[in-house]
Amino acid sequence: MDARSAVPLVRVAYASAASRRIDREELLQLLAKAREKNARLGVTGILLYVDDSFFQVLEGPLEAVTGIYARIEQDDRHSKVLKLIQEPITERAFPDWSMGMARVSREDLASIPGLNDFFRTKSALSELPPSRARTLLQAFSDGRWRASVL
Ligand code: FAD
Repeated sequence: MDARSAVPLVRVAYASAASRRIDREELLQLLAKAREKNARLGVTGILLYVDDSFFQVLEGPLEAVTGIYARIEQDDRHSKVLKLIQEPITERAFPDWSMGMARVSREDLASIPGLNDFFRTKSALSELPPSRARTLLQAFSDGRWRASVL
């Protein structure tokens, strides 16, 4: 629970493949709209876009998170949307971001202990298995790259 909602909170994380190369301008537009809706519904989280694949964490009230996730799943700007984590939480990992966008590279991700071997053989976040998704989530909630969030 948190003061924002006083209702049980959940976290959903997924990975997906962009349907086409998305430029910075388009990404910022997507982000601006996402932030507006997320702020309205009490949803927070983080989005990564690396080598044409996405990894996103959404946190907030169950109905809001599942509603937004259902809409995102249908979005034709990406495909192969794979839910990696859905769990109840007592605290948000990203309470300050209506949707933070981390500027990271494949090399940055490969430097996370527990992910380096994955990125040696696979390049796409969309191929991330659930166990590695937790490692990635942990690295971000521990504060890694907090300074490079847009
Ligand atoms: P809609 O009527 O579906 O869309 C509202 C506006 O969004 C449209 O006017 C249009 O400008 C834009 N839009 C929708 N689809 C497209 C498209 N295919 N191409 C270009 N522009 C389009 N939404 C959130 O609310 N929160 C998020 O955290 C979030 N994260 C996202 C992450 C990714 C990787 C992607 C691809 C999308 C994300 N979205 C997010 C967007 C989401 O999929 C919906 O577009 C958005 O929630 C609006 O949905 P709607 O049904 O309210 O309105």
